[in-house]
Amino acid sequence: MREGALAAPFFEALADGEFAVQRCSACSEAFLPPSPVCPVCHADDVGWERTDATGTLHAFTELTRTPPGFDAPAVVGTVDLDVGVRLLVRVSAAYDDLTIGERLVVEPSPAPGTLDRGRWSDYPFFSATLPDESASPR
Ligand SMILES: [Zn+2]
Repeated sequence: MREGALAAPFFEALADGEFAVQRCSACSEAFLPPSPVCPVCHADDVGWERTDATGTLHAFTELTRTPPGFDAPAVVGTVDLDVGVRLLVRVSAAYDDLTIGERLVVEPSPAPGTLDRGRWSDYPFFSATLPDESASPR
């Protein structure tokens, strides 16, 4: 996702330590990456909402070969956020400790490894972590 007028609310939310998605006013679909029209119904009445980034692990795998500058092995997965958006993210947990359907929290994180990201160095990486059970209200 490139920074610009369309994505500005996303980066403003990140700067405040929050996560944001777009939502269509016509059909209520939530979506990312940002778009001037809804990807489902093509209405142009779309807005932003800030939300938590808690979700469920949809699928995951372990990469034993990674791009230069990234540590291996690396666990990556798709997470279905409760708000209705699916993200592909690094998962900060051991492969053997994960199961499909696991509850995870997606958060901005430092870039993994030693890759020089050049002009992209200010853009966030996201990682999914297991929620801190002691911090969750019961
Ligand atoms: Zn729509």
